[in-house]
Amino acid sequence: MTTTPVPSIELNNGVLIPQVGYGVFQVPEDGTQRAVEQALEAGYRHIDTAAAYYNEAGVGAALRASGLPREDVFVTTKLRNGDQGADSTLRAFEASRTALGLDVVDLYLVHWPYPSADRYIETWRSFEKLYAEGAVRAIGVSNFLPPFLERLLAETDVVPAVNQIEIHPSFQQVDTQTASRAAGVAVQAYSPLGQGKDLHAPAVTEVAERLGVTPGQVVLRWHLQQGTIIIPKSVTPERIASNIDLFSFELTEQDMAAISALDSDERIGADPATADFTQVRA
Ligand code: NDP
Repeated sequence: MTTTPVPSIELNNGVLIPQVGYGVFQVPEDGTQRAVEQALEAGYRHIDTAAAYYNEAGVGAALRASGLPREDVFVTTKLRNGDQGADSTLRAFEASRTALGLDVVDLYLVHWPYPSADRYIETWRSFEKLYAEGAVRAIGVSNFLPPFLERLLAETDVVPAVNQIEIHPSFQQVDTQTASRAAGVAVQAYSPLGQGKDLHAPAVTEVAERLGVTPGQVVLRWHLQQGTIIIPKSVTPERIASNIDLFSFELTEQDMAAISALDSDERIGADPATADFTQVRA
């Protein structure tokens, strides 16, 4: 159990989000309840799932089994690309809310802009409706590169609370981060550990050895010191615990700069400008 409380970030509507969350992408449906229970046990109070992960029910089961008060855990889910559209968004939200077993979802995200469908503006209008009704405490986007974000800001009313994007040392998307923060949109890093690929870089391992922490902790701390919200995923109990144990050490400015210098513009995930999968399982 972590001893230092995780700080919260205030979103643009005043809602507080714990800066460290637990992501469940690629956690199998039948292992999700157990993994999330372990995360809650380790001190996480922020869970990041998605309809496209097909494990929302496991997240909900873990929340109920934990006995934690509902307001103590921040829960995010996301709309599948194939569910974008005015009415389909509302139907998909009900399905997610039911699977999670929650009355109110803390944060609901448009998972991808999915530009080939050109439906993210009408989708966002439905998000605004859910927000106005109080079914969600905050609404946001994911994978919104600057042109998508700019169009959304120009054509709709509610400024997204967050933009959840791929960020790790070798892929930092500084332009998207800058455009998001400038518009008052908090930045959430997905794949914050680069799915492991950045952990062997000497700039990371040298700091880890000096501070007596793991390379994973160094990379996660590098995000935190930039004010970024992180959602690392692990199904390994020791990693679940160490990925939130980030508050008893600090990186120097030189450490930060050396890790930032690893940016090589190499993404792991799909390119949001062209990604056109529906995320709907056959
Ligand atoms: P991460 O960068 O969190 O890496 C996860 C991988 O790294 C797993 O293979 C895990 O292995 C391993 N790992 C975890 N901790 C450590 C550690 N301390 N040391 C070494 N290896 C470690 O990648 P994800 O892509 O899973 O991203 C995290 C979350 O971001 C997702 O779960 C999801 O919630 C979100 N996400 C959102 C996307 C979007 O489009 N909005 C896209 C992708 C992710 P193991 O589990 O075996 O321990």
